[in-house]
Amino acid sequence: MIIAANWKMNPPLADAGQLVSAYTQTNFDGVQRVLFPPHPYLVHMAMRLEGSGILLGGQDCHQSAAGAFTGDVAAGMLRECGASMVLLGHSERRAGHGESDELVAAKASAALEAGLSTMICIGESLDERERGRAEEVVSRQLDKSLPDGVPADRLVIAYEPVWAIGTGKVASETEIGAMHQSVSRQLAELGLGGVPILYGGSVKPDNAASILAIDDVGGALVGGASLKADDFAAICAAAELAV
Ligand code: PEP
Repeated sequence: MIIAANWKMNPPLADAGQLVSAYTQTNFDGVQRVLFPPHPYLVHMAMRLEGSGILLGGQDCHQSAAGAFTGDVAAGMLRECGASMVLLGHSERRAGHGESDELVAAKASAALEAGLSTMICIGESLDERERGRAEEVVSRQLDKSLPDGVPADRLVIAYEPVWAIGTGKVASETEIGAMHQSVSRQLAELGLGGVPILYGGSVKPDNAASILAIDDVGGALVGGASLKADDFAAICAAAELAV
């Protein structure tokens, strides 16, 4: 089970220090935690996480190794700051920064080149789900967002229905089960069987156990609830029971 915390552009640094301290005071057997803090906090977080077993990741990277890209961050820089993973293709980047599947794949290639593992997000919009196109859209995103030759042991997929992110709405167990089964089948066809498939979208302490018990759900990508130490710990405890 992998439980990943996506802090997005939160919280203030002083609160981040307290939050990460709370993370490190807990331990969950069989649960790999990953923290994606804002980029300026990486070095600070790397020091705080030392010896905790919690992995550190960046929330994005550029597709080039270096150059004149003001405001961007290279995968190698994330690595130098203590990250071992990068989150790519989150729907907030796809929507807010116009990131295409092809760009996500190029960023993933750069990340692999720099020695990072990749967590690639895919997920349909509400309109696509309502029109019965969810599986087709997610399958196309998966196909096009993966870089050539990605090794299975450096890839994690996060299925996040866009309409469930930060909204309090959660996909039903049937919807999650069907999508994870379809993604799992497609990964196996691509020679990537066994790659963990996380669910993301309003995972909270009160729904974590039932979501994590669904077949082919290998963990959760958690946004809002990861900013509350007790809520994040409760989700990790549910994962420990689901292992
Ligand atoms: C996310 O940011 O990936 C996410 C799933 O957010 P939330 O848990 O707040 O829906």
